[in-house]
Amino acid sequence: MLKAIEVMNVTSEQQFDVVIIGAGPAGLFAANELAGSGLKVVVIERGTEALKRNDMNFGIGGAGTFSDGKLNLTHRIGGEPESLGRQPAEIEELIQRVDQTFSDLGVEGGYSGENGPKFQSLLRSAHAAGVEFIFAKQRHIGTDRLQAVIQRFYELLVQKGIVFQINTLVEKIVVEPAGFAVQTDHGILKTRALIAAPGRAGAYWLREQARQLGIKTSYGPIDVGIRVEFPAVIYEEIASVMYDAKFRLYTKSYDDLVRTFCTNPHGYIVAEKLDDFVLVNGHAKWNSKTANTNFALLSRVVLTDPVEDTTKYGRDIARLATTIGGGKPIIQRLTDFVSGRRSTWERIARSATTPTLQDVNPGDIAMAFPQRIVTNLIEGLNVLNEIIAGLISNNTLLYAPEIKFYDTKYQVTPFMETTLPNFFVSGDASGHSRGIVYSAVTGILAAQGVKRNLK
Ligand SMILES: Cc1cc2nc3c(=O)[nH]c(=O)nc-3n(C[C@H](O)[C@H](O)[C@H](O)COP(=O)(O)OP(=O)(O)OC[C@H]3O[C@@H](n4cnc5c(N)ncnc54)[C@H](O)[C@@H]3O)c2cc1C
Repeated sequence: MLKAIEVMNVTSEQQFDVVIIGAGPAGLFAANELAGSGLKVVVIERGTEALKRNDMNFGIGGAGTFSDGKLNLTHRIGGEPESLGRQPAEIEELIQRVDQTFSDLGVEGGYSGENGPKFQSLLRSAHAAGVEFIFAKQRHIGTDRLQAVIQRFYELLVQKGIVFQINTLVEKIVVEPAGFAVQTDHGILKTRALIAAPGRAGAYWLREQARQLGIKTSYGPIDVGIRVEFPAVIYEEIASVMYDAKFRLYTKSYDDLVRTFCTNPHGYIVAEKLDDFVLVNGHAKWNSKTANTNFALLSRVVLTDPVEDTTKYGRDIARLATTIGGGKPIIQRLTDFVSGRRSTWERIARSATTPTLQDVNPGDIAMAFPQRIVTNLIEGLNVLNEIIAGLISNNTLLYAPEIKFYDTKYQVTPFMETTLPNFFVSGDASGHSRGIVYSAVTGILAAQGVKRNLK
């Protein structure tokens, strides 16, 4: 195995052409695009190598390493071409390149999304229920295969001359006449250009840096909701049409958007620890299957003038849910949630579904979520029951909170350059991606922008 520069011994300030902050999909694909350009590139990552990792968010591969590795191979999922000032066809081309890179790294098969009679029948029932069904080609890598793939990617980049400084936290970014000074917990690096790709876990930190540097951002919506877990058998037919089917609807009471996200057939629920709260998420393995399927059900929250800080709102809900869960995610039977009573372990035991996440506390999600969100989720579950027969049952379990923070949106050029020259953003922290593929695409675009500026 190749040896990357683990922690550079920074005795004096080192000069680079490009500093990339974060080695998630955005940072790795940006580095890949810059490799061979003649520019001196360093990737600074607060976590460790992919194969040595035990933290879900930090380390080479970012949140992508322990993700399910579902690649949404369409411009319609995970981002919007128009917010990047791009045509859908341009994004599709980059998506093909991302998919090809995974194939080149040894990923085989895993495609779904056949437009046959079963698709037509699913589309019909979605329309009958007043639900939009977003159909797309997808690829599933699986959590158990992804770690080795990411390690290979990393080693390949080292081979191509990209410097990695791992186990190193970027603390502060300062503007200088010739570029930027990047202050880390191991010393200072100087650079002509910067690509900030710290992911959702680093978005809050980046936002504070951007504010101090006068970079223009705006608030976007956030998604607040639950993980829904149920017997895999009731979802088999849908999963055979599309591995991670996307359903969207507008609720009767508030006309708010509720959508399914990140479906994991035969998968697992996991806890995601962030700062001072805990969230839930889901993934699935390629080789090891559970009897359960799960997806996120999310209610969109938009705040308008004079209170627009959706990040703070989401973090406040996350903290309250963590309090109600006694420091752990809350688990509740769907029937208890709908009836307005708390769950207890005794009630959970009456469900025929064994929870795949056990380090949870039974409780009442409605004690932590605003009433509008609870109403939206209940209405969403009722409508989805018309498509997923058997969803409303004692055998469906709910976990909370699941919150998607991609709410700080940077004003960017079509090459991801912010309002501060040579300061680029990419990935989920930019507010322009919500998944592996779009993160990678925005990383490539930022790298192309850097090449244009520095050459
Ligand atoms: C359990 C789970 C399952 C998922 N499943 C899927 C899926 O199947 N399909 C899909 O498309 N998406 C999935 N996602 C989402 C996907 O992983 C993210 O959208 C994607 O990883 C975002 O890429 P990114 O490069 O923007 O950020 P990240 O992957 O979050 O990477 C950011 C990196 O920056 C580093 N960093 C942050 N701050 C600093 C700092 N100050 N200094 C140095 N380094 C820093 C972090 O350590 C991290 O490694 C899943 C996420 C989770 C948690």
